[in-house]
Amino acid sequence: MPTVIMKFGGTSLATPGLIIAAAKKVLRMSRKNDIVVVVSARGQTTDKLFSMSREITLKPKAREMDMLLTAGERISVALLSMALGKLKLEAVSYTGSQVGIITDNKHTDARILEIKGDRIKRALAEHKIPVVCGFQGVSVEKEITTLGRGGSDTTALALSATLNAKKCIIYTDVDGVFTEDPNRFPGAKKISKISYDEMLELSNYGAQVLHPRASSIAARFKIPVEIRNSFNNKTGTLITTIEGTQRPRPKAITHSDDLYHITLVQVPKRNQYLSQIVTELTKGGVHLKFFSHGVSDARKFDLSFITPLDEKDKVKSIINKIRKKLDVDHIRESSDICSLSVIGKGIGSANKIISDIFNILSKLKIHIEVVTTSESSINIFLKQRYLNKAIHALLIKFRLKKTSNHPVNSGKI
Ligand code: ADP
Ligand code: ASP
Ligand code: MG
Repeated sequence: MPTVIMKFGGTSLATPGLIIAAAKKVLRMSRKNDIVVVVSARGQTTDKLFSMSREITLKPKAREMDMLLTAGERISVALLSMALGKLKLEAVSYTGSQVGIITDNKHTDARILEIKGDRIKRALAEHKIPVVCGFQGVSVEKEITTLGRGGSDTTALALSATLNAKKCIIYTDVDGVFTEDPNRFPGAKKISKISYDEMLELSNYGAQVLHPRASSIAARFKIPVEIRNSFNNKTGTLITTIEGTQRPRPKAITHSDDLYHITLVQVPKRNQYLSQIVTELTKGGVHLKFFSHGVSDARKFDLSFITPLDEKDKVKSIINKIRKKLDVDHIRESSDICSLSVIGKGIGSANKIISDIFNILSKLKIHIEVVTTSESSINIFLKQRYLNKAIHALLIKFRLKKTSNHPVNSGKI
């Protein structure tokens, strides 16, 4: 039988009733498929574990954080396996290390290097249902690691690739991928089909519904993914290859709140400076959203970096270490910045769409701090206070919002 990976997010397992409901979904799917289940920690468990650590220390060792955080998924696998047992399915729970999810050693943000998966394959051959802890692995040095917040999606897609799965179904708390976060922008429309590239851009620029590394694995191995709601039986969003040459058009908008912008002003021009700083920052675990060098004069340039705001202290301590060596004149910084990204195949070079965005923002008197484009995205960095207004206007302009004239409009695109 073909293999299907079913991943349940935290809200989908928050109560005993929901765990039983998830088990029933597995039962139905298991009639025609071999099933591997991946789970997240229940409800707010991971957040609570974080808070527990803060009651002890504000600077815990990353290794100990991983030991703590992996406990959440362990509770879920055991309870879901028990629920499957009640339905007369033979399920076996596994931690990430038991199934050989081997990662690098970067505690709290590890990358999967390899999945051995022998025990899963053996369990499947014995007609059992493996229920695997998402979000965790074991490093080459045999330490327990986690894959970054939201990392259970990554486990699900990595297992899909290893087991050559027919499909990976991500059960979550919304009906699929929308034209913006439906919890923050209630008028957003559900998207019935989205290409791998577009989903990757959406994830990278902030749409929490699928982790960026999960999107990247799906795109690389062309794994069909369906995002669907675990609270109903509606068809979700299919992430797949979309053939044909469509006219570039905006398909969705996403955003990242709470970014940090730092500029090293008037640095003597040396070609290697930008790459040196980028290397130091990424080595230090900083997630760069943007970097550039602007020309200050013939002999000097300004080096600019945008990162998540919660990495500000890390960024500043790295920059302070190298600042003297680079002979920086002064530093400019802002903690009041965020990004909005318009996503759609080919729109990065669609001048009409770019000028439409600029015109709308200029009419709203919204100052653009930085713009970048890629093949399938246009990314605007702006002050946090303008974000909602800008997104509302762009959702309307590009018909990505349900119209009030059509209240019964299903809103699907
Ligand atoms: P899970 O716990 O199931 O992994 P997450 O909270 O990680 O769920 O992801 C689901 C959430 O992603 C939704 O509740 C929604 O608020 C958010 N989200 C952000 N952008 C989008 C989008 N474009 N489409 C759907 N959901 C989105
Ligand atoms: N439990 C982890 C978290 O809350 C992983 C996940 O939900 O995917 O980030
Ligand atoms: Mg998630």
